[in-house]
Amino acid sequence: MNFEEMRRLMVESQLVPRGIKDARVLEAMRRVPRHLFAGPQAEQRAYDDSALPIGEGQTISQPYMVAVMTELLELKGDEKVLEIGTGSGYQAAILAELAGEVYTVERVAALAEAARERLRSLFYGNVHVRLADGSLGLPKEAPFDRIIVTAASPSIPAPLINQITEDGIIVAPVGSRFSQQLLKIRKTSKGILEEYHTPCVFVPLVGEYGWKIEE
Ligand code: SAH
Repeated sequence: MNFEEMRRLMVESQLVPRGIKDARVLEAMRRVPRHLFAGPQAEQRAYDDSALPIGEGQTISQPYMVAVMTELLELKGDEKVLEIGTGSGYQAAILAELAGEVYTVERVAALAEAARERLRSLFYGNVHVRLADGSLGLPKEAPFDRIIVTAASPSIPAPLINQITEDGIIVAPVGSRFSQQLLKIRKTSKGILEEYHTPCVFVPLVGEYGWKIEE
C-alpha cells in the first residue's frame, strides 16, 4: 500500500466511522503527508490509529484527535489561527489547508526548527513558526479568529481569552496532568459559551499559564 492509500484508509476506517463529518477536514487529512512529520523511523506507523513519538519526549496526536479538534474550530477558509504546541508541525499543516494564516508557537527550539524546515519544504507559506512560551498566546499577532492548544493545561490560559475576536473559538485539552477533556469556548457578545467534548491525554503545556515543570 502506498502512503496515499494509507491516508484514504485512515480517513475511512478511523475518522468517518467515529463521526467526523466536515468534508474539508476529511479532505485535508487525506492530503497532508503525515509520514513526513512522523520521521523516517515511524514512517510505516504514521497512519496507525495512535499518537507517535517525535523526540524531546513529545508526540504527534492520534489522527482522530487532530480531526476532532480541527472540526471543532469550524474553519471556513480565511481565518487567522493560533496553534500552541507546534511539535512536528502536522496539526499546523492541517490548519494551513483550511484557514488563511496560521501562527504556531513551540517552546522547544529543536522542534520549532525542524517543524519550520519541514513546513517550508512542503510549501506551507501561510504557516509562521515562533519559538516562545505559548501559554502567553502571541500578543504581537493578536487578535485571532481561532486558537487551538495541543498541550494539556489545568484551564484555558487566561491571556488567550483576550486574544480572540468576538465569535472566536478556542479548543484546548483541559484537566489534570494525566487526563483531560477537550473544551471548546466561544466568545460572544453575551459572554463565553463553554462545551466539553472528547476525553483525551496530551503532553503538558509547560509555561507561565500551564504547568511549571514537565513531571
Ligand atoms: N500539534 C503537534 C503536537 C503537539 S505535542 C503536532 O501536530 O505534532 C505538544 C507540544 O507542545 C510539544 O512539542 C511541546 O514542546 C509543546 N509545548 C509545551 N508547552 C508549551 C508552551 N508553553 N508553549 C509552546 N509550546 C509548548
